[in-house]
Amino acid sequence: MIPLGSCTMKLNAAVEMEPITWPAFADLHPFAPEADAAGTLDLITDLERWLAELTGYAAVSLQPNAGSQGEFAGLLAIAAYHRSRGEAHRDVCLIPASAHGTNAASAVMAGMRVVVVATAPTGDVDIDDLHAKIAEHGPSLAALMITYPSTHGVYEARVREVCDAVHAAGGQVYVDGANLNALVGLARPGAFGGDVSHLNLHKTFCIPHGGGGPGVGPVAVAEHLVPFLPGRGAVGPVSAAPHGSPGVLPISWAYVRLMGTDGLRRATLTAVAAANYVAARLREHYPVLYAGSQGHVAHECILDLRAISKETGVTIDDVAKRLADYGIHAPTMSFPVAGTLMVEPTESEDLAEIDRFVDAMIGIRAEIERVAAGEWPVTDNPLRGAPHTAACLADKWDHPYSREIAAYPLGGTPGVHDRKVWPPVRRIEGAYGDRHLVCSCPPVEAFSS
Ligand SMILES: *Cc1c(COP(=O)(O)O)cnc(C)c1O
Repeated sequence: MIPLGSCTMKLNAAVEMEPITWPAFADLHPFAPEADAAGTLDLITDLERWLAELTGYAAVSLQPNAGSQGEFAGLLAIAAYHRSRGEAHRDVCLIPASAHGTNAASAVMAGMRVVVVATAPTGDVDIDDLHAKIAEHGPSLAALMITYPSTHGVYEARVREVCDAVHAAGGQVYVDGANLNALVGLARPGAFGGDVSHLNLHKTFCIPHGGGGPGVGPVAVAEHLVPFLPGRGAVGPVSAAPHGSPGVLPISWAYVRLMGTDGLRRATLTAVAAANYVAARLREHYPVLYAGSQGHVAHECILDLRAISKETGVTIDDVAKRLADYGIHAPTMSFPVAGTLMVEPTESEDLAEIDRFVDAMIGIRAEIERVAAGEWPVTDNPLRGAPHTAACLADKWDHPYSREIAAYPLGGTPGVHDRKVWPPVRRIEGAYGDRHLVCSCPPVEAFSS
């Protein structure tokens, strides 16, 4: 289980992956003449149609190679739409404070001015601030980018009201569809107020990711924006190849085809149930930062460790690294809220695996209590020492906790010893490397052979 919140690390089934190794798909040049690419073009047409149906939009372009590129394409469509109506001066893009960093970056790249909308204490868009910002920028308003469900892992109950307010001021609504794993088969952004969205096929639609791509970030638009899809004349292409990275599309095609409408809906419901199960079991051990009015989360949940860290000195880094000793990949750290962990189990994990994660988190909570009780010093305990490699256990040992606790935190739990996964490296210096850039600027002569 890789419970990275916001990333939707779901199963990449072998049956979906195999076709991309078939020469008929794999060996096709991205610029092959259309007459030679009939099969791939059929597959692209199917997928575009299915994604349009699932999202409630009129048309989809598979050209963008990432969600962020889909955002860029979508905002270019909005800008071109305003231009086509003689409203080229509309250049303000409202973005909630909780948004993914790519939203603001894409808006700037598309030539827009970013205006941030505050977040309410519930994690939702602050409606009063939204109205204030619309009143202030109305005639210049180009777009609002909103993520639904939000990056706080909650379905914003007032999303229609938000969309309506933007439309009333002459703006367009960009619904960031990266969290579509909580929507497919349940709700359609094009139906609740979106004019344009991107999807992440490498999240919701099973293309593997985490290793750097290629991804696919289709841009989906309502009828009035269709002429402004990338590469259709009014807006130029956003990617070198006409269909982006068609080589990986058979994965998503197979996923949708194999699941069918009912299967996709069940996957969504299962993903949401899994996240709510995690939240329900962990809530008494770690506060869950945001929940809807009924106390539920969407497809992910944020565990708030800030108070625990303040009281005990144990940091989210300690918890994340300690999970490696339990054989579990850490969740997303400090996004979208610093000092928290965001967990997204997806529908792909079975109950046993989700319980393994929850039990590890509960085990870690008990270890934190022992630090808090003074049994272990905050500077030398199984959490601060994590992760423990086999090599470090074989070395001289002068810690106040045993090697057994270091390597087998769940002790005698049946089946734990024989399933031990050894972390290959210990902790390195956190963000040191990110903050101390090593610049090597060799003279031009160094490149002359
Ligand atoms: C992942 C993500 C993106 C960006 O998608 P990339 O494919 O990584 O460029 C945008 N918005 C949200 C909410 C995301 O989770």
